[in-house]
Amino acid sequence: MLLEARWVVPIGGPPIEDGALVVTGGTIAAVGPSAELRGRYPGEPVETYADCALLPGLVNVHTHLDYSAFRHFAHPRGFGTWMLQLLLASRKLGMDDFAASALWGAHECVRNGVTSIADASEKGRTVALAARATGLRARVYLEVFGLDDAALPKTIERLDARLAQLRGEFETATTAVPGGPSSAREGPRLEWGVSPHAPYTVPPRLYREAARFARRAGLRMATHVAESQAEVELLTKGSSAIAKAYKAAHLWKRQHWAPPGISPVQCVAESGALGPDMLAVHVVHVDEKDIATLAATGTAVAHCPRSNLRLKCGIAPVADMIAAGITIGLGTDSLASNDNLDPFDEMRAALEVSRSRGAALTPAAVLRMATLEGARALGWDHLVGSLEVGKRADVVAVRMRGLETRDPVDALVAGASASDVRMTMIDGTPVFGGGNLPVEVADGFRSVRTRLGLMSE
Ligand SMILES: [Zn+2]
Repeated sequence: MLLEARWVVPIGGPPIEDGALVVTGGTIAAVGPSAELRGRYPGEPVETYADCALLPGLVNVHTHLDYSAFRHFAHPRGFGTWMLQLLLASRKLGMDDFAASALWGAHECVRNGVTSIADASEKGRTVALAARATGLRARVYLEVFGLDDAALPKTIERLDARLAQLRGEFETATTAVPGGPSSAREGPRLEWGVSPHAPYTVPPRLYREAARFARRAGLRMATHVAESQAEVELLTKGSSAIAKAYKAAHLWKRQHWAPPGISPVQCVAESGALGPDMLAVHVVHVDEKDIATLAATGTAVAHCPRSNLRLKCGIAPVADMIAAGITIGLGTDSLASNDNLDPFDEMRAALEVSRSRGAALTPAAVLRMATLEGARALGWDHLVGSLEVGKRADVVAVRMRGLETRDPVDALVAGASASDVRMTMIDGTPVFGGGNLPVEVADGFRSVRTRLGLMSE
């Protein structure tokens, strides 16, 4: 199949005006000017997106699709209050509710031009089912919590059992290695990972054991770290809004946990959990030493600018982290702390906040964060993230508002939105081509929101 458009934005090279790409067996076989490729591939069926740009499928490196139904949940509240409200509200929902919520979220992703997600889920199965139903490429990190060190062996046992059960139910692969066997080269559509949740829910010993477990099982990891000032205070002083939230939710057993007295990043680093297989999420409250530690360990970062603003957490020092050589992808986080899963809105927010902390990013840099750098942060850059020969055909067609522009990247980042996505393709198969959300998906979502008392918001 030959896809042609007003612009092709490969990311790995300059934009191609009146460009095209050829997709064969789920793989990108050629990228170039349309006239040239039509000549080289005369028999290929042609699909024309005259008013669009073709981009690599967008990569959302941090989601919690289970929480999609919580959209507009986070009114202006600080982190501690938000966390408590979320904990209490979640108790109203059952597994089917989370599944309906995740399914809606996965549909929203493909409708918004997102083809790869990295999701952290306590359930795992909910997001895996949603990814399978929509064709979304997903890494699902199984979340691990546990404030009580005495419960640690049980926590790891449970993780092991959960993973075995999910692996039995879903046929999955670990991250493919370039040049590996052909099945590995095709890359994963669904992959498991492990997410020790955060330094305020996971003590150092559990970080160490969860990381050992993940590495033995060949799984990548993600963790929330240095998200809020409340987290820093809890770790350094032992008291904060998070401690209050724990007490209010009856989760706090002070005798089982003592503040380590160091920063969140140093806390995770000392447990040995940082590394090229770890994605550090948020990373707002960090100093020079923390940034140097992340860089030295090869840890990648998920930047979630809108969630950080919504929860009054602050602005991540992205320019400093890039200067230190850290790979940074872009994440929306969940709809419990964001308005939508629109990657273009997230790119604009990344651009906007970068102006107030360090050197401002360029539109090209934020588009790379939402594509190739995001893929690199997940260890998937040999598979997706750019339109290059040999990569998987994860492609989106996005309507261009200013067709006469000489710079489609600037135009897309400044003006495009999820509603401009005309087509989303994963592994060469279209998974969205316009049209409404399936009625049963919308109904399921609405009923969960009703249960949460959020229907009027
Ligand atoms: Zn998160």
